[in-house]
Order: sequence, then structure tokens, then C-alpha cells
Amino acid sequence: MSGSPTPMMAQYSNLKTEAGDCLLFYRMGDFFELFFEDAKIAAGVLDIALTTRGEHAGEPVPMCGVPVHAAENYLARLIRAGCRVAIAEQVETPEEAKARAKREGTPSSKALVKRDIVRFVTAGTLTEEALLEPRRANMLAAVCDLRGTCGVAACDISTGAMQLEECEPQRLPAVLARIGASEIVVPEGWNDMPVDAVVRPRGDFSSDRGEAQLKKVHGVATLDGFAQFSRAMLAAAGGLVAYLEHAGRGDLPLLLPPTLRASGGHMAMDEATRASLEILASQQGGRSGSLIAAIDRCVTGAGARQLAEDLSAPLAERAQIEARLALVDYMLGDPLLRGDLRTILRSLPDIGRALGRLVAGRGSPRDLGQIRDGLGEARRLHELLKAKGERPALLDQLLPSLAGHGELTDLLSRALVPAPPTERQSGGYIAQGYDAALDELREVSGSARRAIAAMEARYRSETDTPSLKIKHNGVLGYFIEVPSKHADKLMDADSGFTHRQTMANAVRFNSLTLHEEASRIAEAGGHALAAEESHFEELVDRIAARREAIAATAAALARLDVAAGQAERASDGEWCRPRVSEEPMLAIEAGRHPVVEAALAANGERFVANDCSLSEKDRLWLVGGPNMGGKSTFLRQNALIVLMAQAGGFVPARSAHIGLVDQLFSRVGASDNLARGRSTFMVEMVETAAILSQASERSFVILDEVGRGTSTYDGLALAWAVAEAIHETNRSRCLFATHYHEMARLADSCDALSLHHVRAKEWKGDLVLLHELSEGAADRSYGLAVAKLAGVPAPVVKRARSVLDKLEKGRAETGGIAAGLGELPLFAAAMEAEEEECDTLREKLEGVDVDALSPREALDLLYELKREI
Ligand code: ADP
Repeated sequence: MSGSPTPMMAQYSNLKTEAGDCLLFYRMGDFFELFFEDAKIAAGVLDIALTTRGEHAGEPVPMCGVPVHAAENYLARLIRAGCRVAIAEQVETPEEAKARAKREGTPSSKALVKRDIVRFVTAGTLTEEALLEPRRANMLAAVCDLRGTCGVAACDISTGAMQLEECEPQRLPAVLARIGASEIVVPEGWNDMPVDAVVRPRGDFSSDRGEAQLKKVHGVATLDGFAQFSRAMLAAAGGLVAYLEHAGRGDLPLLLPPTLRASGGHMAMDEATRASLEILASQQGGRSGSLIAAIDRCVTGAGARQLAEDLSAPLAERAQIEARLALVDYMLGDPLLRGDLRTILRSLPDIGRALGRLVAGRGSPRDLGQIRDGLGEARRLHELLKAKGERPALLDQLLPSLAGHGELTDLLSRALVPAPPTERQSGGYIAQGYDAALDELREVSGSARRAIAAMEARYRSETDTPSLKIKHNGVLGYFIEVPSKHADKLMDADSGFTHRQTMANAVRFNSLTLHEEASRIAEAGGHALAAEESHFEELVDRIAARREAIAATAAALARLDVAAGQAERASDGEWCRPRVSEEPMLAIEAGRHPVVEAALAANGERFVANDCSLSEKDRLWLVGGPNMGGKSTFLRQNALIVLMAQAGGFVPARSAHIGLVDQLFSRVGASDNLARGRSTFMVEMVETAAILSQASERSFVILDEVGRGTSTYDGLALAWAVAEAIHETNRSRCLFATHYHEMARLADSCDALSLHHVRAKEWKGDLVLLHELSEGAADRSYGLAVAKLAGVPAPVVKRARSVLDKLEKGRAETGGIAAGLGELPLFAAAMEAEEEECDTLREKLEGVDVDALSPREALDLLYELKREI
């Protein structure tokens, strides 16, 4: 790259423009090279050397590179760091480039190999095994707004599963949180776009186009056979498919027929609830310490992915929940069957993802082998499960998907060697006996190889040179080699040998017969490769033709794995099958928190189980007690038990009766969200506001220490008002933890609210936390005792004690912080007064003809209205 743009620089710039904000991997021989800013970013992320190559506009050009053979690993790291990459490959050989240059009349020294972007690698469009995590789905979502609603299309292109849905704009963050996409695509010019979204042209998000693309992909005349999709959903689908086409440069990955996700079929949870319940990841971000880590006993990646989906989108329909529970129960009741099932599942390849790679055109012979083995094992499972008498309905429903691939598995078994390689360039994966012509070609090269071996022996004796060898290398092909001191004999003009190369210690020759045999090998080898290649393509086509059936098998296997894993977990932890009903109640006997229990067990400590029973008449529990006493744990464990039950699994309790929950809300702990530029208290209030505006009589809410983030007076006032509102207006089932004793007075005015506390006692001056829930208000807060327990130095605790004494004395004299609370009107009365005020204002405003007002009159009116409030 010199001063004026060289042809290569010009080519690079064009490709870079095409790559847009993706890093450009520019292929140069055995390396992918990156230049300019791209090089700096990649070198930083990958921790590789940043050098320079040539100059551009008088400045050295920053450069770094990665070897092609190790590119996947580097790609994985870049994608994980949030980069997107465009791969520019050489699409002609140097010889072709020279020939082209000649045709075009450019000097061959200037001939530049043509390069094209062959693919965009982005977080949501991966199919490579090495780049994907086996136990996590990899979702790509496209979102668009259409006439006031949002369409959302989500797919996991590693398996082709695709879902369309629609939601109100304010629910979009919750929907996206559920999907957990690694990449989100939105139309340009969208104001409320999620952070880090990929912006694509608006034209891509047209519902007509989306519909046409889906019809084309699935070869149908109408989508009605799949479901009734709305315009917004189809527009999002259009954006999704267009993006996939763009990323694959026209090639589409595997896409299964889209399913419709109806709102209301699932228990809704917003982003904050998901984060605070640590469902798929702990607050630290990793899987360890999360709910799924405590439950997951799946033996396949696909099973773990299904479990994650179940927990992300718990069901809201009783029949479906019962169906899953019955399957878990069945597996629990037959440990032998479960063991056999899990042994077979454990050996299963990930056929869903193998199918994804094959259909996307990135498959290998090994993927064919995986489909063969996976479908074969599925058939075995079918036999195993069919042999059993009584079967739960869900199993009956899954069974047919496990069989029915006989013809395809037979074909693959005949066609493939037992362990096909991951590379297809060197062939060798089609089995002997599958194709007579291929066998013959292999026989030709085999016999030629044998002929060459015989030739070596013959030449040795003919030339009387035992050290003569026939060798092969990439440059010369086959040749005869003798040590220099024996070379003379072969140099003879009529010896039949022709000289090819003289080395330091050896001389190399050719012979006519060797040349003939070598050509036979090369020719037969080339034909054999071509034959294998065409078999490969045909087998891929045969698999692709059955893709929906194979995907259904993969889904059935995953569901079986989840159920068997849930049963395994339940039997390990003495979990119980929850009872599910429609009434707004909750009765959990001896419930436990699966994650905290596991953490305690690891230290040899025991978890104290606690009951929880909410009903229409007693639907809000105020939970007090000292810090560290177990309030949050109690709140969360009940939320988790509801979630696990509605996901169709067993729960850590002696017994559990759950009235179906439509929405679950959790505001636990003051989560730090400073990264988004909001203070902790602001976040707390935004989340609380969402609960107050959305929670219904069928919802379950856990609120921990509302108002903790502000001053005592503000905090108590807010906590009080929020608890009242939930009790009176939302009427949800609710567990409300607070350290404000004053809140206990709420029990006087709220009849469906009851007081509870976590027990603690002081023993010989030390605090003992019993983690046991009891009825009634907490007597005191033990704050100083907790501080002592936490290792706050004794003098500080002592000083705090005297400050406290002073404060408490003051409280006794003045009535303290809660002095005025007794005179507070009831919540409902306060609301009515507010409404009346609004009504008078409304009446006044309705009578005003705004257009007829002079500015002066308008101002006067405003003053008048202000006086009213
Ligand atoms: P709080 O919300 O009252 O401050 P937490 O729920 O955070 O208290 O509990 C503090 C710690 O107490 C937990 O990390 C856990 O180790 C322990 N703990 C909580 N609940 C229990 C329980 N039921 N049995 C045993 N240990 C518990």
C-alpha cells in the first residue's frame, strides 16, 4: 500500500465500504488481514500484535492478521466481544487473475486476485459448532413498529426454530428480555431502538415482503396452515429474513415454519424480574449461581436449551403444565427406564444443530454421521418407550416423532463410513460398497499404489540399489530417489530414468511407468473426490427434504431430556409435584430456595424450610425482621417455586399448591443500574411504577425493601403507599419485605394483609438468625447486632448503641417517625378525594374553548386552575 491508492487499496476500500460497521477479514494467502481501525480493534480484543504494512496518504497503515486455519477461534472471541465480521475471500486463483489481467490488457504484474465478501459473521447468525455454546440457544431477533404495535420475529438459526409475536411498545423490553437475543435487528429511523441493535433499511421490514419470503422459503401458497400472523409480525419476519439473506450473501440458513406466540399463553415477566430472580444468569452474569444451574440435569445440549426456554417462558395454561408434570412424574416413577433413557440420550449428537449447519451449506460429513446416529438412537428410544404400558399423554404425543426416519437412516448407514471426518476436501467418508463406480475408482488408485510398491522393489534389484525409494510430495508428485553416490547408474541415457532434481545428498528421477501409474492415481483420485462430493450433496438434499420431521425429532428428544432431568433433580432433592389450580392462592409447605440451599449444602449447612400461604382473604404478607434474617430468600423462593411449577417442573417443597399466576413481578434488592445512567433509587421507582401499573389480581408480586434507596421519611412514606396500593388496587398476591416496623400499622386498615417476620434471638450478647418465618410483627430490627456479626469494630458498635439510645428516647417523647400515621385517612378515601379534585378540574377544562382564548385569558385560567389544587 503506497502513496497513491494501489489496486489492492482500491479493492480493500470497496470491500470495506460494503462491510459497513463490520470488521473486514481480508484474505491474503494463508491469513485474514485487518487494516486501519479494524486492525486496532481486533488487535486489542484478540491481544495479537499490531504492526503496519505500507503507507496510505503518507501514514503507515496499521495491520494485524490471523491464520486462516485458526480463524474460527479468533472469530469466536471477536463475536463474544460484540464485534461483527465480514469475511472477504479470494474468489479466483492467482493464475486466473493473471489470465484475466491478460484478457483485460493490464500488465500481469498488476493482476490482483478478485475478492468478495462471502459472508457476514455476527452473534445472531452463527451455525459453527465451535462458535456456539452447546447448552444455550443463540437467538436473533428482528423488531419493528407498525401502527402502534411492535412485531417481533425471533429465530435460533442453529436449529431453525422461528417464532413470531406482537406486543405493545411498552412491553417490548420484557419480550426482548425473554428472548435473550444475541443480536437484534431494527429498521432505520426508529427512536426507541434497543441498545446495540443492528440498523437495516426500512424497506426490509415490509409485511408483504415478509409474507412472500416466508411462503417462498416454505414452498407454500398461504401461511394460514402455520398460523394467522398479523401484519406487524410479518413485517418483523421480513426484516429477519432480509437480514439473514444479507448476512449469508443470498444464502438462507435453515428456517423451520414459524410458530405464533400468542400473548397470554405464558406467564409474563419483565426484564427487572428476570434479572432479580437470576433465572438463566446470576447477577454477576454467569450461569453459576442461577436458577437453571441449580435445576439443570439434562444430558444433552438441546435438552438444556429447552429447559432454558421453559424457564424463560413459563406456561399460563393449566392443561399444558399438567401435561409436562405428568411426564416428569412418569419418569420419576420408573428410575430404570429413566436411567436407560438418559444413557441413550447422553450419547446423542446434537442433530438439531447438525441439521442447521447442513441446510445452511456449512455442513460436513461428520454432520451427516450425526444425523444418522441421532435418528438411529431416536428409533431405539422409540422402541424402549413404546414397550411400556401406561403412558402419559405428552409421551404419546412425542413418540411418533421419534420414529419414521427408517429410510433415511438406512441410506445414511449404507452411504457413510462409521466415523466421517469434519473435512470433506480429502474425501474418504463414503463407505465401501455404496457406489460401485466409486469403489472402482478407489480400486484403480489402490492397484496403482500397489503397482508403485512393486515397481520400487523391481527398480531396486534392476539397479542394484537397495536404498532406492519411490516417494511422493506435493510439488513433484511421485518420484524415484537414490543417494547421490548411486545416482550415476540412473543418469545413463538409456536407463529409462529421467533426472528431475539434485539435492544435497540425493538425486531424484522419474520414469515413464511411474509417471503412468501416478497419473492413474491422480485421475482416479480426482474422480473419486468428485463422486464423493456429489454423494455428499445428494445426502444433504435428502436430509433437507425431511428437515421438519428431523427438527421434530430433535424437539421431542429435547423434551424427553428435560423431563428425565427434572425427574432426576426432583428425586435427588426430594422435590414435589406441584398442584396447579385457577384460584388466586398459594400454599407452599416447607418451601426451599434451590440456589441458596445448594450453596449452604456445599458448606455443610442446612436450609430452613418455610411455609407460605396466600389466599383471597390473606393475600399480602408483610415480612419484617433483621437484615440477613432471610427475608429476600423467602420472597424469592416463593417466586421461584411458582415459576418452576408453571414451567412444568417439580419444586423444592414438601407440598405446593399454586393458583396460576399471569404475571410475576420481582423487585428485590437495590440493583445497581448506574451503567444506564439512572440512580439506584430511580431504577427502584421505575420498576415499582411498572408493577403498580401492570399487576393484576392474578399476578404474584414480591417486593423487597421498597424505599430503601432514599431518606427514612420518604422511604417509609413510599413503602406505605405502595403496599396500600397493591392491597387495594392491584389486589395481587404479594410478599412485601420491609425493615420499617411502622408499616405494621397497615394491618389495622388493610384486612387482607398480615404480618410476618423472620425470627432471630440474642443469645449471650450474640445474634442468632433462625431463618424461620413466624406470624406477627418483628419486635425490633437487631441492626446493631447484625453490624457486630458482620465484624464492625466493637467501639463503633458501642458508639452506635449510645446514638440509638438517644434516638429512641427522642422517639418515645415525640412519637417518632410514625407519629402522624394514626390520623392518615384510608387509602380508598384518599383516592376518592383525589378523584373529586380531578373531576372539578376536568369539568372546568371541558368548558374552555382554547382557540377563543387570548394569551392573557389563558394565563389567568392557568392561575385559576392552579388555585383549585
Ligand atoms: P435479608 O433479606 O433478611 O437481609 P437474606 O434473605 O439475604 O436476608 O439472607 C441472608 C443469608 O441468610 C443468606 O445468604 C443465606 O445464607 C441465609 N439464609 C437465608 N434464608 C435461609 C434459610 N431459610 N435457611 C438457612 N439459611 C438462610
